[in-house]
Amino acid sequence: MTTMTQAVTRSQKLIEKEEQYGAHNYHPLEAVIERGQGVHVWDVEGKRYFDFLSAYSAVNQGHCHPRIIKALTEQAQKLTLISRAFYNTALGPYEEYITQLFGYDKVLPMNTGVEAVETALKLCRKWAYQVKGVPENRAKILFATGNFHGRTLSVISGSTDPSSRNDFGPYMPGWEMVEYNNLASLQAALEDPHVAGLLIEPIQGEAGVVVPDPGYLAEAFRLCREKQVLFIGDEIQTGIARTGKMLALDHYGIQPDILILGKALSGGVLPVSAVLANDEIMLCIRPGEHGSTFGGNPLACAVAREALQVVIDEKLADNAQKLGELFRAELNKIRHENDLITLVRGQGLLNAIVINTDEHSGLAWNICLRFRDHGLLAKPTHGNKIRLAPPLVMTENQIWECVDIIRKTLLEF
Ligand code: PLP
Repeated sequence: MTTMTQAVTRSQKLIEKEEQYGAHNYHPLEAVIERGQGVHVWDVEGKRYFDFLSAYSAVNQGHCHPRIIKALTEQAQKLTLISRAFYNTALGPYEEYITQLFGYDKVLPMNTGVEAVETALKLCRKWAYQVKGVPENRAKILFATGNFHGRTLSVISGSTDPSSRNDFGPYMPGWEMVEYNNLASLQAALEDPHVAGLLIEPIQGEAGVVVPDPGYLAEAFRLCREKQVLFIGDEIQTGIARTGKMLALDHYGIQPDILILGKALSGGVLPVSAVLANDEIMLCIRPGEHGSTFGGNPLACAVAREALQVVIDEKLADNAQKLGELFRAELNKIRHENDLITLVRGQGLLNAIVINTDEHSGLAWNICLRFRDHGLLAKPTHGNKIRLAPPLVMTENQIWECVDIIRKTLLEF
């Protein structure tokens, strides 16, 4: 009893510290996590949870994957950062590896996801002026409604989410909105000859795992080709095996003109992101025109290379595909048993349930608190949707255990 009281106090103290000394730009669920291994994390009281957020799909390879941690520690003892002012032993081999893996001429390494998105947008503008021949300062890039591409001023300028956007103006000119999953809207926007690119998520993760209609992405890609407009795939959340293939766009046989990766590119170990493109696009940026002190650092290169190889060696895409089908089938059974769920959607192990309530009721939040009490961590996104995205190293037995937790929890409401 005494231990319990002390433990609860420790948890509470840590929460209070964040509240007092940290900016209030997040609203965390009350679980104070101390360590993680594979699909599990443990809180300061020693309680074990299945992690069904995976740090927004950054931890696809599982927490603290031993091979990735080994690569990290080995490289950390040799060289962590030299900057791009000089060459280093890790960058070239990593660049060769990642470009061959994804089938592009070149890669531009960055750190966070949003930096890679910014890089792709800059690259697209350069290409518009230097290759497509758009008159100076007139290039436009299309963003889809409901998107999430990160938090910088330029990226939130293309957001339709008031909480991302409001009171952060003035906004970046040159971004135009098209409706997601609406080909007529895209077709109309593409009539403008100054349009240089379409930035798109193959599945909108933050919006609540919104999967477009089956024909949408392939036709959007075709329409962009027809109008000499770059198709820029943001696979920061959907990529690296999350949806059952290495890239979500692989399901449609689409090779985007510019590919953006982040999150699980490092297995959640470091902020590592990348932009991939062929020479016609990538060589539009010349020395001194773009960069980052940490981009392409040896530590990140060693980690990212190992993180990708783990995905391949452990066949994580196949596992995500197989377990995803099983998981959605079970969630749909629960939906039929319990009218608390109105919809189950997703691909691979990127899934969401939509709760039968409005976006502001707080019910989804309360369900997540109860999931937590039963040993499963998930968080609502956009009010009434709960994203369910465990690490891809999950086993079939474990997913059954999680289905039981979800079923049992929902019956309590
Ligand atoms: N793009 C997508 C599709 C994302 O899901 C995210 C993060 O959730 C980002 C970009 C931004 O990544 P970061 O938070 O690493 O800047």
